Amino acid sequence: MKLPLLSSALVLGTITLAQAQQGGKPEDTEVYEPVPKVVAASPNLAPPPTDAIVLFNGKDLSQWVMTEDRTTPAKWKVAGGAFTVDKSTGNIETKQAFTNYQLHIEWRVPANITGTGQARGNSGLFLASLGKGDLGYELQILDSYNNKTYVNGMAGSIYKQRVPLANPTRKPGEWQSYDVVWLAPTFKADGSLQTPARVTVIFNGVVVQNNVELAGPTQYIGPPSYAGQKGGPAPIKLQSHGDKSEPDSFRNIWIREL
Ligand code: MG
Repeated sequence: MKLPLLSSALVLGTITLAQAQQGGKPEDTEVYEPVPKVVAASPNLAPPPTDAIVLFNGKDLSQWVMTEDRTTPAKWKVAGGAFTVDKSTGNIETKQAFTNYQLHIEWRVPANITGTGQARGNSGLFLASLGKGDLGYELQILDSYNNKTYVNGMAGSIYKQRVPLANPTRKPGEWQSYDVVWLAPTFKADGSLQTPARVTVIFNGVVVQNNVELAGPTQYIGPPSYAGQKGGPAPIKLQSHGDKSEPDSFRNIWIREL
């Protein structure tokens, strides 16, 4: 049984050897019910507060680098006051690291989106990047407008960990907003957990995560845990997901440290 597990890990690319050795399957941590109710809501498209650190102002990606090589400037393309995922290049993340913060980001699934389930407008906002690939705490970005998938993997979920309280996703082609309050986990001198990460997410003006505790960084396979974690400041990362659907765009990104 070891060989098929190892080969699927290689194909997916983001699964660690430790995860493969646990012998679990991705499906083991998918939740399908209850399905959050659909809510018609409007995004928050307001300009940044005057004391915010602007991470993208519509002009350039000077605050961002490639996750795989933080000495390389972010390669995604800016046009029309927004930037778009370039799936040929990989994830990007902020130059600066943050611990506790309030963050605003606007995102858009393209109007011509194709695909189904997790392969339809999949990106992600990693609230704390923990290094290369998809390591970190992922607030999912996905087309969840009439697109069924596991509910702990839909837009507004903390991927495979927290189901959103409602589904206010707007149609592909429309801008959407996330407003996030993130409190990083803290650890004692001996490395054990002191306080878990906590997150509040307002999605298109609707609270979808209400100060929830997290059990550790996002895991594609198996349960999350804080084993080996240290806490402290971390960059904010955007996901270049490996599915074949048309890439998402982003704009008006700002942060206030707490
Ligand atoms: Mg994602």
